[in-house]
Amino acid sequence: MTIFRCVNCRQPLTSEVTPGEPLRGPERPPGNEVAPPRMAPGTFKVNFDAGLLIFHPDDVPGTAFHPDPRRLGGCCGPAGQDGPNLVCIGCGVEVATKESDCWTDNLVALIAAAATEEPKVL
Ligand SMILES: [Zn+2]
Ligand SMILES: [Zn+2]
Repeated sequence: MTIFRCVNCRQPLTSEVTPGEPLRGPERPPGNEVAPPRMAPGTFKVNFDAGLLIFHPDDVPGTAFHPDPRRLGGCCGPAGQDGPNLVCIGCGVEVATKESDCWTDNLVALIAAAATEEPKVL
């Protein structure tokens, strides 16, 4: 189990999570419904190329929506195409992008550089 904290203020950003594999590939299923989450709850996947950590949408309780509504465009949910749309609830720094609209993937991508991993002390 590990937890990711804000680099800036140490606020926990995520639930306790373990490394896991995506439930499906990057292609979203056909149709106009919100896709099932890419990751299972409680798991995350590192995307080294993009410098992102991919989470289930419910695993980032330490984040809040961006105060700028222009970042929150979308019809059924945030599309996440206009820059990071989640901020740290502790200090307001941009930490992640959520996408869960009817034409996007369904995930939260935490910016790796904005988070520090902290193994849970048993
Ligand atoms: Zn939509
Ligand atoms: Zn913070």
